[in-house]
Amino acid sequence: MAAEQFEQLLRTQELDTRLAQIAHAKATHPLLDKIAATQEHSATVAAGVQDEREERHALERNQKRLDDEVAMIDAKRADIEGKLYDGSVTATKDLLAMQEESKNLGERKASVEDDELEIMEQMETLQGVLDTAQATIDANDESIAGFEAELAAAIAELDAEGAQVQAERESVVVSVEPELLAEYERLRSSRPGIVVARLVGGVCQACHMGLSAVTVDQIGKLPPEAVVHCDQCGALLVR
Ligand SMILES: [Zn+2]
Repeated sequence: MAAEQFEQLLRTQELDTRLAQIAHAKATHPLLDKIAATQEHSATVAAGVQDEREERHALERNQKRLDDEVAMIDAKRADIEGKLYDGSVTATKDLLAMQEESKNLGERKASVEDDELEIMEQMETLQGVLDTAQATIDANDESIAGFEAELAAAIAELDAEGAQVQAERESVVVSVEPELLAEYERLRSSRPGIVVARLVGGVCQACHMGLSAVTVDQIGKLPPEAVVHCDQCGALLVR
């Protein structure tokens, strides 16, 4: 191990940075925004025709009520017609009254059927609006399915790269002493940015600050396996 483990730690940091970039790319993929925006559009379209949907339900209830009324009128008329011709009623006055009632029922039925026609026309207009909205929602669903397939492919690609990077990391960290690796992990979790850096010409490559001549001199006298930190930013220094 000794000195070269610092080189391995630098490589570990590179790989960890790539892993973080991959995780970030997955979490913030532009297709996620596209999918969310399309879903939101569909929700807006659906909300925009909520009144029409409720109106259609009301019309359907009305239509059902009128259908029931027509059925009731038909039954009543059949009953009257039956009595008119089966000889059970003989008094002229009664017969005339029944004929009058039958006639009234017929007129009532015609009026109800006119109302039904009007409802059907209103429903047709509403249906046109609802169909247009549904067509937009269907088209959005199709777009979303496409985006999701595209996203799944992109994620799979990132995951494949992530697995490769992870495998390399595992092969690299075996060359790093556990205590040093633990210190690196601790530094990395405690702050963003670079935690392992080369010391080049007395300058830390993490914070780009020059170490004092005394410090550089002291560091130069340490054995290569000694763990040295930048006195400015605390980064682990690779000499
Ligand atoms: Zn530094």
